[in-house]
Amino acid sequence: MNLELLQKNLEAKGFTYRYFDTAQQAADYLVESIQGKTVGIGGSMTIKGMGLYDRLKENNTVAWHWEVPGPETLAQAAAAQVYLSSVNGIAETGEIINIDGTGNRIAATLYDREKVVLIAGVNKIAPDCDQALWRARNVAAPLNARRLNRKTPCAQGEEVKCYDCKSPERICNGLTVLWRKMGGVKECEVVIIGEELGY
Ligand code: SF4
Repeated sequence: MNLELLQKNLEAKGFTYRYFDTAQQAADYLVESIQGKTVGIGGSMTIKGMGLYDRLKENNTVAWHWEVPGPETLAQAAAAQVYLSSVNGIAETGEIINIDGTGNRIAATLYDREKVVLIAGVNKIAPDCDQALWRARNVAAPLNARRLNRKTPCAQGEEVKCYDCKSPERICNGLTVLWRKMGGVKECEVVIIGEELGY
């Protein structure tokens, strides 16, 4: 893994790069830097593990459907000034990949946002875009399908991989590849953490 290369390529593509050794340090930084904002959070085991919802709520208005389910929360998150998501794969060459079933998470990272924060443990890093895509499809998505106990071959079968299933419970309906910071997002900050987090 080459973090220097990752930083150089992300910055060349317009992303802001931050690195922290631990999830605790990254959470402290985010709580300090996001204050007085409306904040939306996408479904993320990484963000859940960091305890960010409770901490950000102290100084912001936070919408997260994992804490308060329902369309109202999703609408608030979609309109938030700041949106937090993890990623399913990130390439040392600077591309960022996310797969989504509902679409709320990937949609919110693309447009009309003051700030998007994309958080990734080092387990999400792959050498190039193709391998980051492979990871997103064959590691992140099947493990998420298992967590949700979906009736999909990746969740019910022995081997953890994508079968490109036609199951009605398929969780992979759309994919985003950020080649660069989106024009409709003022700042896109990538927070890399030197620990294994999420899927
Ligand atoms: S497409 Fe189907 S088999 Fe592949 S990861 Fe998604 S849910 Fe699993």
